[in-house]
Amino acid sequence: MTDKKVRVRFAPSPTGPLHIGGVRTALYNYLFARKNNGVFILRIEDTDQTRYVEGAENYIMESLEWAGIKIDEGVREGGPHAPYRQSERKAIYRKYSDDLIASGNAYYAFDTPEELEKLRTEYESRGETFNYGCVSRMSMCNSLTLSAEEVQHRLSAGEAYVVRFRMPDNEDIHFTDIIRGDMVVNTSTLDDKVLYKSDGMPTYHLANIVDDHLMEISHVIRGEEWLPSLPLHKMLYRAFGWESPDFAHLPLLLKPTGKGKLSKRDGDKMGFPVFPLFWPYGETAHGYREDGYFPEAFINMLALLGWNPGTEQEIFTMDELINAFSIDRVGKSGSRFDPEKAKWFNHQYMQQKSAEELADLFMPLVKEKGFTPSYEKLVGLVSLVKERVVFVNDLWRESDFFFIAPESYDAEVLKKRWKDDSPAMLAALRDVIAAIDDFTPSVTESIVKEWITKGGYNAGGVFNLFRLMLVGASRGPHVFDIASWIGKEETLRRIDAGLARLTR
Ligand code: GLU
Repeated sequence: MTDKKVRVRFAPSPTGPLHIGGVRTALYNYLFARKNNGVFILRIEDTDQTRYVEGAENYIMESLEWAGIKIDEGVREGGPHAPYRQSERKAIYRKYSDDLIASGNAYYAFDTPEELEKLRTEYESRGETFNYGCVSRMSMCNSLTLSAEEVQHRLSAGEAYVVRFRMPDNEDIHFTDIIRGDMVVNTSTLDDKVLYKSDGMPTYHLANIVDDHLMEISHVIRGEEWLPSLPLHKMLYRAFGWESPDFAHLPLLLKPTGKGKLSKRDGDKMGFPVFPLFWPYGETAHGYREDGYFPEAFINMLALLGWNPGTEQEIFTMDELINAFSIDRVGKSGSRFDPEKAKWFNHQYMQQKSAEELADLFMPLVKEKGFTPSYEKLVGLVSLVKERVVFVNDLWRESDFFFIAPESYDAEVLKKRWKDDSPAMLAALRDVIAAIDDFTPSVTESIVKEWITKGGYNAGGVFNLFRLMLVGASRGPHVFDIASWIGKEETLRRIDAGLARLTR
């Protein structure tokens, strides 16, 4: 698709838990890199110290690792362009800010936050918005309006300043986005963004462009919320005289219903996670991992939220995604998040897993409940119930009766099925079962069926009451599978207990 060496980056800011929209951005970058024999980089954009949140950086890395997104160059991995954490690259940016000033593309501004705030309020009171740009810049306090001596004097006195980009006046800039196509923006509508501050920190815009250039990024694939910054970024590349990477802005992930971006509040309200992992700090949040999703299911679901393969195929392994992925098939419009579909994916992956794999995951839960079945027994049980569950955690709910004899009997079933002759029927069934040697489901079933036919019993009534004795309700897999799993002795015990309770 491209003749450039593909190098892409995921560049999150560690400001809290990573939203699943962020994971999707990372995923598309990763798929694009792998598909094109390229390199996937994780760069931590932590220049805004006021928004820095402890734990967020580790959370990002752990999330990607859990999801199976492998980083080629990054904070932990290192690489030819280390360091990959912007706060550790602080010394790099100053030179680029100076270069822009020297070439007339940027200028020092000394306006204080209070002065700017005052102007904003004044404008607002007139129903207008203050813009630091082509209309206002010549009436502000900056190196375009002050004499060179005055600027020098202020700088050597250590006065606080910012460096602003000097946006050209009234120029149409044309640019292309791989997903959105051609766009044009007039520079007079754009303001003179701050690039650098006297505390020695660059802003997002400068650090992002400088690093993308130095790290030889070929394609910038990021969320739609950055599209408004694209004209500025394009102008920065031009000002530096650098070749710009190609850009692709991904559509938003939308709420399950209504308008707007998928938020934590939607998840809390409707009971689904919007973050990959549990977030333990401050206001805690659910995570897909802890809620029992398989990482493969999570990734499969995310991949299809915005990209489509152009076929009916819905289930993809990571390798299949890599093979099938192309940015051209990423849509322009937002993708509605569907919590039921997320579950559907997990259910699909659940069915694909072997009973052995699931038994490994289920065993600790069973032990926690105080039971120690053999591994083989648990494998057998899992294969009986797995089609009924979405999560490993649901396995217990679907199989508790294998371990625990009923303590009560479903009133509905009793009302419908318990007849005067039921005790005699169950007692007879008990004797038939007691005489069976090979207590496998198929043998037991055929012997019981034969007895039903011979004795002229109502098959439905027998099976329902038999199940009621074993389970206490009308749920669970095939009743002869349950009987065989719990064993003949336990089956007889449960019939006896039921008879005793119900004929008192
Ligand atoms: N640090 C930005 C973020 O948090 C990166 C945007 C970009 O990819 O350019 O999303």
